Amino acid sequence: MRYVKISRGRDGNTLDATGYLDALGAFAERLPPGARAFATDPQHYDLFGGRCVKDLKPVALTLGDGDGDGDGRAWAELRLQHHCWKHEEDLTIRYSGVRSVVADPDGAETDVRSLRDVMLDEVLPHGQGCSHEIAFLAGSMTIVADDLVATWDAADCADRQALSRAAGPPSAAS
Ligand SMILES: [Zn+2]
Repeated sequence: MRYVKISRGRDGNTLDATGYLDALGAFAERLPPGARAFATDPQHYDLFGGRCVKDLKPVALTLGDGDGDGDGRAWAELRLQHHCWKHEEDLTIRYSGVRSVVADPDGAETDVRSLRDVMLDEVLPHGQGCSHEIAFLAGSMTIVADDLVATWDAADCADRQALSRAAGPPSAAS
């Protein structure tokens, strides 16, 4: 991470995105449109926001050689599952024109569940495109691509339905 500060401690992890948010104004214009929309979403770094990436769980990364439009460019799709107490939606990030996918530990991109929950992420301009680095509890992953499109979709969550019937949703969004 260049701007987002993450310190991992025995008594918990400390996350600080203020350096990133301060810098974002200067480079947001250079991000491709989908990446810019994702990075500048006011809830993205609001740790209590329903569209904050923190606490999402990676469930699948699919890589493809082409997207059927004939230009043969690689794509990737990362699916992230909601955290029942925080999010009402799941997040899918679709990367177009993928240049590289690098994970730490090496090879973790083949089993993204092993990376565990998202801590925070950072979207930066990279050449004509963008890089997207995600820090997880158990590692990290960086995807360099022409652009990305982040889509939130209503989560199918049996827990939340049961909880809201019993006691109403938690007040994390207040
Ligand atoms: Zn759930």
